[in-house]
Amino acid sequence: MKVFLSVDMEGITGVVGEKETDPDHGGEAYRANCHRMTAEANAAIEGALKAGATEVLVADSHWNFDNLIPEELHEAATLLRGGPRPYSMVQDLDGSFDAALFVGYHAMAGTPRAIIDHTFTGRIRSVEVNGRAVGETGLNAYVAGEFGVPVVLVTGDTALVAEAQGLLRGVHTVAVKEAINTNAAKHLHPRKACDLIRAEAERAVRESAEIEPLVATKPVAMAIDFKGTEAADRAELEPLVARVGGTRVEFSAEDYRAAFRIFYACMHLSSSG
Ligand SMILES: [Zn+2]
Repeated sequence: MKVFLSVDMEGITGVVGEKETDPDHGGEAYRANCHRMTAEANAAIEGALKAGATEVLVADSHWNFDNLIPEELHEAATLLRGGPRPYSMVQDLDGSFDAALFVGYHAMAGTPRAIIDHTFTGRIRSVEVNGRAVGETGLNAYVAGEFGVPVVLVTGDTALVAEAQGLLRGVHTVAVKEAINTNAAKHLHPRKACDLIRAEAERAVRESAEIEPLVATKPVAMAIDFKGTEAADRAELEPLVARVGGTRVEFSAEDYRAAFRIFYACMHLSSSG
């Protein structure tokens, strides 16, 4: 049984501010979060192994994708580190996997009482897939869904858990913190967070055959609404999109993976300069 594990940092217990997730400016706080991120990844790996996983691919999915500490990561796992990557947080997730786990994730841009709510970049206000507003959880789950792979576990704060439960039928979740606002939260102790993630990952992987993949109907229509016109001006450089308003671009593709590639290119273009 093969398991794909995508690990972000904003949804790790203890994390509240963007600066402490920034490799260049986060200093000691950032390094402490790398240890915690690796510990929560290990908890998910241990749970998956208990449930019968024989292979675990771990995609480091935060910032430059080089935060997890290789020496501290569980020996049974393979680490996918570095970027850029066309499929970003779910690079190399394909139909050979039986389940996907998202650990340390955060709620979509614009979510109240959610730690560092954003969608890939601070310049995006919202993203829609076939008219449905989604954040990183949904955007990545649709990639898995195209291969028939269910997302079986999502961990982060309470707002992220609510978002995941509203989108992914049957998904298992662990809330490691409850946000007061975008930069303040009540946290579980890191050891307690790991205990819960380990136990829930085991249950989730055991029940993975009963959890539905999130599948986008084809052709896939997507829209990105940016927070400002300059970001939309840059995204419009991507030839496959149509500018449909001051801050909005729309595009469609035959399948979701192709649509995701256009989205991701737009996101990078919008963030340049
Ligand atoms: Zn991140």
